[in-house]
Amino acid sequence: MARYLEAKCRLCRREGEKLFLKGGKCYSNKCAIERRPFAPGMHGQGRRPRRASDYGLQLREKQKVKRLYGLQEKQFRAYFQDADRMSGVTGLNLLQLLESRLDNVVYRMGFASSRSEARQLVRHKHIQLEGKTVTIPSCNVKEGARLTLANKATEHLRVKASIESAAQRGLVEWMDVDVATNQGVYRQMPARDQLDSSIHEQLIVELYSK
Ligand code: SF4
Repeated sequence: MARYLEAKCRLCRREGEKLFLKGGKCYSNKCAIERRPFAPGMHGQGRRPRRASDYGLQLREKQKVKRLYGLQEKQFRAYFQDADRMSGVTGLNLLQLLESRLDNVVYRMGFASSRSEARQLVRHKHIQLEGKTVTIPSCNVKEGARLTLANKATEHLRVKASIESAAQRGLVEWMDVDVATNQGVYRQMPARDQLDSSIHEQLIVELYSK
């Protein structure tokens, strides 16, 4: 599977907002977007801001959400197609499908400080889903499913730091996490008002419905 291997901070600077792709650095004063709050590249600083067209706004929103969850275009479009086939509101379906990815759930539970770090934990067999080791980061986690962090992973300094920092920031309401046993339950899919209000999923629906 293709992966984006360039500097992740460029993605935030391109979208003009924090996407929290680098774990602890995102919460520190080393965050690139705070130091250089303009688009990357030679003309990023000089270019005069233009009024974006409707298409431009839709495209940027799609790119933002795709990058937030660390997906490639083909994967992201497949999620949209699944969301579109489901009953209910397509935009919300899309966000809930993305939130139910195993790597995202591991990240939301605080076992990793970013989604890419969570993906690595999954790939390296450190995560059990309902008692079984799963190595596919895109695996869909069902409501009520229990995740366990392998004992070996709890000794990793990065994992310890992630758990501590997540506990300080506070965990999302739709998960239950027991740090003592390194387990978490994906209690229910998040409602729209529990998710990031800066995401305008309707723009993505409009873009892909053209
Ligand atoms: Fe984005 Fe994090 Fe880099 Fe800041 S440190 S620009 S939030 S990836």
